[in-house]
Amino acid sequence: MSKYLKSPDNMLTSTCLHSIAHSYILNDIRSSIDKNIFYEPECFVKGNGEEVLQKMLENSNFKLRMYGSAEELAQNLKIYQNFPGSQQFLGTYHEPYINAPAIFHSLKNEKFICRSDLFVILQNMAVEISLMPNVDTFRYVIAGALSGLPKQQAKYLEFVKFDQKVFDEIEMEMRKANSKNEIAETVSQVSSGNFETLVEKYFKVKTAGYTKEDFRNLIKNYYKGVMNSNKNPAEALTVYSVNMTMAICIRNIIETRPEMFQQKAPITVRVFEDGDQKFVIAAELAYALWPERLSEIFENYSKVGPHMYTTMGLEEAKEKGEGNIEFIRYPIKRTKHRAVPIKGPNPEDPNDWCILAVDAFFEYMKSIITGFKIFQKCFETFAVFKYIFNALEKVFKPEVESPYFLQIASVDNLLTTLQDTMKSFSPNKDVRNAKQDGFTAQHLKNELNHLGLTGLFPEILDYSEDVYEEIYKAKKERFLTTCDLFDAVENCQLICLLNRIPNLKKFLHNQKGCGMVFGYKCENCEKEKDAQNSMRNLKIKSSNEPIPNQCSKPALPASTDCDKCSESSNSLEETENELKISENQLKEMQQKVLDTEKESSDLKKEHEKIVESEAKKTEELAKMKEELNNEKEKNQEKDEEILKASKENEELQKTILKLTAENETNERVIQKLLDRIRNLSTSNHKTTEINEKTIEESTASVTSKNAPLVIDCLICSSQIKAGQEVIRCPLCKRRFHSNCAFKWRKDHTQCPACNGDLPGI
Ligand SMILES: [Zn+2]
Ligand SMILES: [Zn+2]
Ligand SMILES: [Zn+2]
Ligand SMILES: [Zn+2]
Repeated sequence: MSKYLKSPDNMLTSTCLHSIAHSYILNDIRSSIDKNIFYEPECFVKGNGEEVLQKMLENSNFKLRMYGSAEELAQNLKIYQNFPGSQQFLGTYHEPYINAPAIFHSLKNEKFICRSDLFVILQNMAVEISLMPNVDTFRYVIAGALSGLPKQQAKYLEFVKFDQKVFDEIEMEMRKANSKNEIAETVSQVSSGNFETLVEKYFKVKTAGYTKEDFRNLIKNYYKGVMNSNKNPAEALTVYSVNMTMAICIRNIIETRPEMFQQKAPITVRVFEDGDQKFVIAAELAYALWPERLSEIFENYSKVGPHMYTTMGLEEAKEKGEGNIEFIRYPIKRTKHRAVPIKGPNPEDPNDWCILAVDAFFEYMKSIITGFKIFQKCFETFAVFKYIFNALEKVFKPEVESPYFLQIASVDNLLTTLQDTMKSFSPNKDVRNAKQDGFTAQHLKNELNHLGLTGLFPEILDYSEDVYEEIYKAKKERFLTTCDLFDAVENCQLICLLNRIPNLKKFLHNQKGCGMVFGYKCENCEKEKDAQNSMRNLKIKSSNEPIPNQCSKPALPASTDCDKCSESSNSLEETENELKISENQLKEMQQKVLDTEKESSDLKKEHEKIVESEAKKTEELAKMKEELNNEKEKNQEKDEEILKASKENEELQKTILKLTAENETNERVIQKLLDRIRNLSTSNHKTTEINEKTIEESTASVTSKNAPLVIDCLICSSQIKAGQEVIRCPLCKRRFHSNCAFKWRKDHTQCPACNGDLPGI
């Protein structure tokens, strides 16, 4: 089973890769992508498509150097496309699925899977089980058999319980229906002019509006066509039967399991996890609680303007959920240049894709600084920019203190508007290449001068050394490359901007993004660091006490008996006010607690410290135990799988033996055909199953974002690879391997990167 949860090998097509790259690369430099590289010919690519990407980079007139090597870009693209519903996001409906189906855990530790990923598993199984897995056409037939269905059903991102047993059953069913025996029979029937079994099978799988006669004609026509035109009708017929049998089998699997594929899924709400923050989208919770009030909940989102989704902390959400709702843990993921898109909560809007506001901020800034080169366009005065950036506070809201999401399309619109107003300015110099052995802080300064940035930002040279130092530290032993130089130049400009526009600075701080800017010093972060110890004690205390809340359901449309709530739910702004009110209340509470604490005796403090460190120790112990248990479970699972696999193998061999005895002549013919087809399938050309390819237009919603990814674990100095568990420092946001962080925490109280005090892990 677990093999079907991996992203399958050799399923990535050049055209799909184009869609991903097009979506990933900054809006302003997309025009540098040479489309022909992906479309001539259209083919399946090797591995992650490095070879094709290499060609794309070479043919880009040096405009894509900020993305590093083809290998680095391929890795980033692989992470970027890997999320439930990515096919919908990218609009690659006619392509095979390439994302790896993900198992999600609820807070009750039950396993869930996103409904759209069920279809990915079916595809992966079919490819594995098929008698001709290497025939390119086959994959398209499977993709075709599945397409439409997920599109209809996965409008809203639903989660269903993940049950291993059901998938084992499905696998058995698929193996049975696609045995050589079955295929041989179908071929011999069809070739002798008897279409009835196939017609019957087709008909059983209800396809809307089709009669038996329709199916009969469909097959007859195909058969006639093959006989007249194909040089090898028997071979074509076999391919046809293999594909048809699989397509019918998949339809059957879906039709007979409505609870899994079609019916209303259990009520779930995602808990987004970003570092140590856990939060839910307020509208998503509201919709889960009151689905009948959908139009009310999403009323604001049909209006023009930037669309945002506010969030609330997990504890508050749990109270409101009143135990009826399954909370599903959903980690926020980022690549080097963009955040991984997240389906928004609006079930009526297929284009409702979001990212966190903080990620949108970085994408926006990367797009205008590095993509659009906005600060190189006008050297004389910052005044013109001030106007633009002050207007941004409507989107990047300085006053919102909890995380919030922005619709990707909204950020796109922002960018388009800005570019239209700035069009008249001429293009400017590009960042030059770094030398083979990297670059120095002085090189960075020269580059800032060369680009003409010192005119607009005389202070930029002062920041450059800090930026250089942090980028160098993040890279460690490897040489800095040209894409690091792009990062450095961008970060220098971003720091200048932040220090000139206080509201952007405040926004970034409130959204906990200060640590994502290399070399940036935020005074508020420094202050918070100083106050951290007392705050931590305070948090532990106050969480035990109920927080007075004059309105029990802020930020959500509540039941009608509360006027205040239903009123406030109607407008975003009021919702925010309510949020603010409860935040203010919280602050008041915390202040009160602080005051009382000051008065309390030293003895009490000491006692608390002891209790706290005890608690930490117990937690650490529990974590270690859990890890051990997990390891054990994994080992067990592996053993079981091996056992099962060997049993299956035995059975298979038995079946094959039986088959040969029973059906020797037929079998030999089929085998020969299959072998021939396998050998013939070297051509990479796609066949014609697919008609409309509107990839260019279909990726309407894309933005620019970037969250610098720290690649090395500072504790063990080795690379943090995709999929490895990481823990982030709450202060500087650097990532470390979880295991390294646990070990480190035993002997140290400070973060190895920023030296800030670490909370108990
Ligand atoms: Zn800050
Ligand atoms: Zn109320
Ligand atoms: Zn490590
Ligand atoms: Zn840190």
